[in-house]
Order: sequence, then structure tokens, then C-alpha cells
Amino acid sequence: MHREESNIILLRPHHILDIITHYGQNVQFKPHPYGHAVHTIAKKMIDNIDLKIQLIIGADDICRPCEHLLPSGYCDDVLHQLDPPTPKQDYNNNLDSQLLSYLDILPDSILTLREYLKVINSKIPGIEAICTHPGENVESRLGGLIEGLKKLGIRKK
Ligand code: SF4
Repeated sequence: MHREESNIILLRPHHILDIITHYGQNVQFKPHPYGHAVHTIAKKMIDNIDLKIQLIIGADDICRPCEHLLPSGYCDDVLHQLDPPTPKQDYNNNLDSQLLSYLDILPDSILTLREYLKVINSKIPGIEAICTHPGENVESRLGGLIEGLKKLGIRKK
């Protein structure tokens, strides 16, 4: 995967949804023991929702500094809470494929974060059925998404 312009942030579609949900839930973004870039990318997103993003199904700019990212671009983390335990790479790729299909967006599309969030907003309620992670409360996910979009000025109520 290559970025077509240097100022474009590569992101997995669900990573963005996770950040917006946590922002709506007033979760503090702090450095994670894995070393990934959720906290720095979240700040960039919140500071400027007109930044350009490329929606990819694969390792993104959040993964780049993560200790679980192999040189091949494969994530070696395993979701042991699933039965059977599932490679995170497979879980993520499946989730992001489902999301883009539901949103009618082609993989590798480049758009502004604002444009992506408007598409997300047009799929609320509904999208929470896809992006809620196992063990997560679906109402909490929906509420977090709505509040996050409100805080960013994408929706009023
Ligand atoms: S998907 Fe894997 S490589 Fe990417 S941030 Fe998460 S654990 Fe790290």
C-alpha cells in the first residue's frame, strides 16, 4: 500500500470509528503499551477534520510504530477473547471489508475525514451493528459515536 500524497493519513476504517467513539465517551487518548499511534492520530483528527485520509484494509499509520506490526505488514496480535482465538489481522480485515461495503466506499479511497464522518453519520443508527467489537455494549458504542460526531460538529443531536 502506498500513499499517493505525503499529507494523506492512511487509516483502517474501523480505527477511525473507534477513535470517534472513544472521543464521544470522553476517553483520554494516552500512549499505549503496544506503542501504536492511536493517541497521536486521534489528536490530529480532532484538531482538523478536514485532513485527508486514505481508507485502507491493512496496516495503517496507527499500526506503523506498533510492536505487533511485522516487517511484512502483518499484525501478529491474537484476540484470545474470541472463541476460537483469532489473529487480529483477520478480524480487522474482515471488519474493515464489511464496513466499507456497508458504507459503499471502495478500499483505498481518498477523502477528507469530514466527508467520511458524514457518510458514517448517514448510517446511524445501523453502523453500530457492524463496528461494535465482541464484548462491547452496542448501545454504548452507538452513544459514543453520536456524541463524538456531535463534538466534531458533524451532527446536532
Ligand atoms: S492492528 Fe495490530 S499492528 Fe495495528 S495497532 Fe492494532 S495491534 Fe498494532
